[in-house]
Amino acid sequence: MIAENIAAIRENIRIAAEKSGRDPKDILLLAVTKTQPVPVIEEAMACGLTSLGENRVQELLDKYEVIGEKASWHLIGHLQTNKVRYILEKAALIHSVESLRLAEEINRRAEKIGRRMPVLVEVNIAKEPSKFGILPEDCESFLRQIATLPAIEVKGLMTVAPFVENPEENRVYFRKMKELLVDMNAKKIDNIAMDTLSMGMSGDYRVAVEEGATIVRVGTSIFGERTYPANNA
Ligand SMILES: *Cc1c(COP(=O)(O)O)cnc(C)c1O
Repeated sequence: MIAENIAAIRENIRIAAEKSGRDPKDILLLAVTKTQPVPVIEEAMACGLTSLGENRVQELLDKYEVIGEKASWHLIGHLQTNKVRYILEKAALIHSVESLRLAEEINRRAEKIGRRMPVLVEVNIAKEPSKFGILPEDCESFLRQIATLPAIEVKGLMTVAPFVENPEENRVYFRKMKELLVDMNAKKIDNIAMDTLSMGMSGDYRVAVEEGATIVRVGTSIFGERTYPANNA
């Protein structure tokens, strides 16, 4: 099942990339493994998916204990400042930087361990009240602020697009994200040269790739519907 799903997603990514004149190799399929147990994750890893996305720190740490460095760990969910120190040595990329306070804590902790931490700035591109992220109009000033933090490396931008029935409805937002990335790079802010766009999930990753995503975060289309423990709903 999982192997077939992954093959189908890879084929869809290839088609979407070619449609937009891109090399499919430039797109990372990030397996979103939240709620999935280790043996299931190992099945995906056996198919070559070794970049894993988790949205909760504790869950990432629990799985890291078992899987360790065989995988590349991405934190994709909201990160509280008091949890930063637990994941700084373990995460390859933090997708969800959306406040100066959080960026400063990452910087402080990263300096301590002698690491320059790769991060993405989360953008609330559709300006949904329920979502985390910097508003697009505040992006430049935010980037100018975190550009001064020496132990942070801003690799690019990330967004969680609206939940829609028809993925075409999100095309406008993915396009805006790409424009924002290009615009921000054109400002030539010291320390800011971004090449990563993390956008697109199970419902809309094809459209996201067509519009320039370099990381798509896919869970359900690989593993099927998630079941959450009852005490955790
Ligand atoms: C859960 C999650 C995903 C994956 O969602 P699917 O619809 O299952 O592919 C992607 N990004 C973030 C931030 C998530 O929390």
